[in-house]
Amino acid sequence: MPLQSKTPPLLLVATKNAGKAREFAELLGKEWRVETLRDHPGLVEGVEDGATFEANAAKKALAIGRQVGGEILVLADDSGLEVDALQGAPGVYSARYAGESDPKLRDARNNEKLLRELAALKAFPLEQRGAQFRCSLCLVRGEEVLATSDGICRGALLDAPRGGDGFGYDPLFVPVIEGGALAAKTFAEMDSDAKHALSHRGKAMAIMAGKIRGMAG
Ligand code: IMP
Repeated sequence: MPLQSKTPPLLLVATKNAGKAREFAELLGKEWRVETLRDHPGLVEGVEDGATFEANAAKKALAIGRQVGGEILVLADDSGLEVDALQGAPGVYSARYAGESDPKLRDARNNEKLLRELAALKAFPLEQRGAQFRCSLCLVRGEEVLATSDGICRGALLDAPRGGDGFGYDPLFVPVIEGGALAAKTFAEMDSDAKHALSHRGKAMAIMAGKIRGMAG
């Protein structure tokens, strides 16, 4: 499929991750024609060897921006889970935490490893199972970085998965809601609007949307 700008404008999201691709379509779908690397298998993803989410988001966005040229807006996300009792691990290694290469098995293996690590620490009471999701976004056109944004979502990790929606660590993660209490549901038990209203990606995307509107105005 050729890359071309039409109305609504094209936004190419630099991800192959099915869960992220779906969330970006939900978050951006009304104003943008969202395509991802799943629609453009010939594009080569950037190497995620940065030490921070911010650095990796920029690497991913610029790798694709360089390949598609200066007409197309490219948005990249780098995100992950930081667990208090594990000194911020898995962090930027969240996607490859358990070393599983098959994308269909990766999330389950990562969640199993996380539960093993927490069990080994005897971090069982919920108050010792604090964690946060972080998301960094980077918007580029060609080689030019146009905007960046970040979002954090605090929460706690259960000792067994709950819920069949979402992706990644969602079945283990209960987010903090307004007032500081924990939600009754994991991200994998919430509908997508409820997750986006609380999530690291929803928050980073709201800031990015404001920056994009500011650039247009
Ligand atoms: P990366 O940004 O491609 O390096 O992958 C981020 C990884 O962090 C994903 O593969 C998930 O394991 C995890 N992750 C990021 N955002 C979320 C989320 O919203 N829910 C659950 N897991 C997430």
